[in-house]
Amino acid sequence: MAAAGDALVVDRHHGSLYDLGPGAGLTGFAFSTLHASLSPRIRVLSDPFGLDVVMQFHKEMALVAASLLTAHPVLFALGSGTPRIFGLDTSWRVNLGKAALLTLLLVVGLALFHKRFRIDYWIPRNLHKIVAVAIVLGFLHSSSIGPDLRLPVLRAYWWALFCVAIGIFLYRSAVVPFLRRRFVLSDLRQETRDTWTLTLAPESGPVFEYRPGQFLFLRLIGPGIRAEEHPFTISSSPRRTDAITVTIKESGNYTRAIGRTPVGTRARLEAPFGRFSLAYYAAPEFVFIAGGVGITPVMSMLRYLRDTDDPRRAVLLYACRAPEDIIFREELAALPRRVDVLHLLSQPGPDWPGLSGRLSASILREGVGDRLARGVVFLCGPPPMVRQARLDLRGLGVPARRIHFERFAL
Ligand SMILES: Cc1cc2nc3c(=O)[nH]c(=O)nc-3n(C[C@H](O)[C@H](O)[C@H](O)COP(=O)(O)OP(=O)(O)OC[C@H]3O[C@@H](n4cnc5c(N)ncnc54)[C@H](O)[C@@H]3O)c2cc1C
Repeated sequence: MAAAGDALVVDRHHGSLYDLGPGAGLTGFAFSTLHASLSPRIRVLSDPFGLDVVMQFHKEMALVAASLLTAHPVLFALGSGTPRIFGLDTSWRVNLGKAALLTLLLVVGLALFHKRFRIDYWIPRNLHKIVAVAIVLGFLHSSSIGPDLRLPVLRAYWWALFCVAIGIFLYRSAVVPFLRRRFVLSDLRQETRDTWTLTLAPESGPVFEYRPGQFLFLRLIGPGIRAEEHPFTISSSPRRTDAITVTIKESGNYTRAIGRTPVGTRARLEAPFGRFSLAYYAAPEFVFIAGGVGITPVMSMLRYLRDTDDPRRAVLLYACRAPEDIIFREELAALPRRVDVLHLLSQPGPDWPGLSGRLSASILREGVGDRLARGVVFLCGPPPMVRQARLDLRGLGVPARRIHFERFAL
């Protein structure tokens, strides 16, 4: 998008590469506003599809926007034969665009590569907010440069994209913090050597409505507690109205300290989210497959089936490392007889009477094979286990529509 008087403007025709530049820029900007507007945490958007699906779409929008916006100056540079993309330009309008692009690339780069460079997740998570700065800069750049947005109808469209994106950003950062549900930590219980159950009671009134298997975003507030928000599944049954529980495995900087949280700590919740729940699907019977702390949504569903005296049969195949890693072992053993519980251990020790080894197609066939013809499958565990189990289940003839899964990664 070059304008008379700007450094990128030339008075001769540069050819098709140069001509593609404005299109890439305009489409890229439209995608970046779509990315910002489709915030996965806006419940009307995430409820019909599930937050993980909207999150995936949100990430893909960011990649498409970043690719098109990078192509924008590259096409100009290649088309005009002046390959200077970064560095200051003589036009402030062009510099606004460069600053917008650099800001966006920083955010996308950190989101993509933080794990590889061992950067704490919280840094890209917080920096994500500066996408709003990139959108403001990009809007100023695109509106002030070039002839493409001269038509009033296009200008109105451009303003609408900008206002929706910035409006949603302001709503999320200025309004949502005040809408979080106010809870307090009323009990903390150690389940295994590295897993803890937090009981959270509402500061007033009963617990909000949720479906078994759904999750929330938890922020604990107190001295020495990192001011972070993390997703955890509600492990209690919705039938319980005095409190909810979340069961958390120590896995990183935040969760490693969870067992030292003092009772009485204030908690702020954004909830509920997700569609990994038996409440959403008709099922004659259930096959639950869980690995490690992936038992949490399954436990919520099993507790709910128990509390509602649901007559449907269910089987749980629960994979852990060693006997002492089995979470909720006693409660699982005390479930009604219509729920069969099978434990699978990868490091069972000499006296283990049950299944041993890693979850595989043959273990699935041996353990729950007879239930796979009719049962609706709920699968949750570490991402590699979920990936492989989905393939194995498909190989055993279970149609995709009967396999529901939750990944503990957004
Ligand atoms: C839908 C969902 C439900 C979950 N339910 C449970 C549960 O019931 N019990 C449990 O123990 N764990 C659960 N998790 C995983 C839990 O959120 C992470 O283990 C925790 O956030 C790790 O934080 P950390 O700082 O201790 O570890 P880190 O080592 O810093 O993070 C490990 C990885 O966890 C993810 N992560 C970290 N922080 C966040 C965040 N704020 N938002 C999103 N992802 C993040 C990132 O992929 C990161 O790379 C769930 C995750 C999701 C997405």
